[in-house]
Amino acid sequence: MKEFEITKKLGKELTEGEIREAAAKALGVRPEKVGETRIVRRSIDARQDILYRYRIQAAREGEALEKYSLPPYRDVRGAVPVVIVGAGPAGLFAALKLLTLGFRPILLERGKDVHRRKADMAKLSTTGVIDPDSNYCYGEGGAGAFSDGKLFTRSSKRGDIREVLHQLVLFGADPSILIDAHPHIGTDRLPGVVENIRNCITEHGGTYHFDSRVIDILPSEGGFEVTAVHPETGEKTVYKAAKVILAAGHSARDIYELFDRNGWSLEAKGFALGVRVEHPQWMINQIRYHGKYQPFMPTAEYSFVQQVDGRGVFSFCMCPGGILVPSSTEAETVVLNGMSNSQRNSKWANAGVVVQIEPGDEPEEYREAGHFSLLNFQRDVERSMYRWCAQKGEGHPLRTPAQRMKDFCRGIVSESLPKTSYHPGALSAPLHELLPAAVASRLRKAFPQVDRQMHGYYTNDALLLGVESRTSSPVRMPRDPETLEHIDVPGLYPCGEGAGYAGGIVSSALDGINCADKIASVTK
Ligand SMILES: Cc1cc2nc3c(=O)[nH]c(=O)nc-3n(C[C@H](O)[C@H](O)[C@H](O)COP(=O)(O)OP(=O)(O)OC[C@H]3O[C@@H](n4cnc5c(N)ncnc54)[C@H](O)[C@@H]3O)c2cc1C
Repeated sequence: MKEFEITKKLGKELTEGEIREAAAKALGVRPEKVGETRIVRRSIDARQDILYRYRIQAAREGEALEKYSLPPYRDVRGAVPVVIVGAGPAGLFAALKLLTLGFRPILLERGKDVHRRKADMAKLSTTGVIDPDSNYCYGEGGAGAFSDGKLFTRSSKRGDIREVLHQLVLFGADPSILIDAHPHIGTDRLPGVVENIRNCITEHGGTYHFDSRVIDILPSEGGFEVTAVHPETGEKTVYKAAKVILAAGHSARDIYELFDRNGWSLEAKGFALGVRVEHPQWMINQIRYHGKYQPFMPTAEYSFVQQVDGRGVFSFCMCPGGILVPSSTEAETVVLNGMSNSQRNSKWANAGVVVQIEPGDEPEEYREAGHFSLLNFQRDVERSMYRWCAQKGEGHPLRTPAQRMKDFCRGIVSESLPKTSYHPGALSAPLHELLPAAVASRLRKAFPQVDRQMHGYYTNDALLLGVESRTSSPVRMPRDPETLEHIDVPGLYPCGEGAGYAGGIVSSALDGINCADKIASVTK
């Protein structure tokens, strides 16, 4: 087998003939002696000419290329039960892995199935009333279900990314995610994928319980009793399980409080805080493709990392051709995030631009809260955004403070704001004063610096909207590095982003797989 590269101008098809010819050269054989060929990676190189770079594997006639195959799902009726709290990427991939290992997953999800959840999100956009159990973070599919569905991760050390990507394709994602350097699914496709995962779990004997907010986890003889309450009826149900995987995401502040009440260890953990930045997408296309953008080219993305005054300032969860959405989980707070559909065809490009916050960076008054110091700080910033808009009088409850980019850096309130994709609307505000000083001062230095790499990025046509605060969990549930169990509670597996051990869809999914593997390795 040989692996080699072919480059091709964007917009020109790579033909079978070209692949075979290049393969023959790489293998040192005549073209008719080339056997199987396969594209394994496709990336865009926009440094000079705009090219697709293809990595290709080829075998000689009679030889086979190595195939990746997923382990089969088993029927788990009657098998050892494992409760999974949360049906986000960590919980869902833990459940799928448990099926392959012969354990029976019982999924408890505070929110609703993707279809009912969609209706609640539409209501949220129009009324601004946040349902604390069904919103952009909570419900089937978790925070990743209504997102851009970017699947890029740097965390290859956490496990085999192919296991996640191949399952996503099995459940309906486009196979291009297997080869694209920056794969994404799109918010129009994700709900279908999530629903197919649910069907697989239930068809194999796992169970799914929506409207089941977990309020207590009690270690009992040989396992756990997990109590869930129906958010509307108040009816309580107790589930028994041998083990518990706790995959409740980074917004489940009530789960952290449950730990606190039970006296189980928690730690403050660094997170990142900043704004969402929205440019017209055509501008980002021109910047990234050096003025050579053509409509057939993929919508341009960007990312950057800067060091400013000893802290990282970086772009986060960039959504090309996307829209901004209200992603708070609590009343009287404003939090923004972004999502895109599979075509990435809105007029806007948005990204979080955030400053790393380490324990000890929070203002003095938060420090006495110990492991909750950063969480309280995060919540107060979200509340301050809400309050600033509320005191401006009537309007959509989730309006957000906003400022043009250059005005922000110069400390001037914008006289007018450009159009935004954020449906609840934006109010011109002194974001440079509303954000914590350590965040605002670094962002003000960072934007002009970014312009040196991406000329045209620093512009008053870009709008900053506050606040992007749910980048990762500000609390960690410490676990044993070997067994992955919580250090105080054997049999309890804090998992995914909420546990503080993952960030993003793929790394959370991998963490779910790893927790399931650990359970299987110690359970008969
Ligand atoms: C709008 C948006 C866009 C995003 N875009 C991307 C992207 O393009 N790419 C990317 O990699 N990441 C993206 N992210 C981040 C990504 O979604 C998260 O990193 C990922 O979903 C974390 O997975 P998780 O399973 O650990 O937690 P979550 O996805 O947060 O899932 C946790 C689940 O637990 C449930 N839960 C919480 N508390 C309880 C309880 N007490 N009882 C029962 N259930 C409970 C919640 O309802 C939720 O469904 C985005 C996030 C948002 C909000």
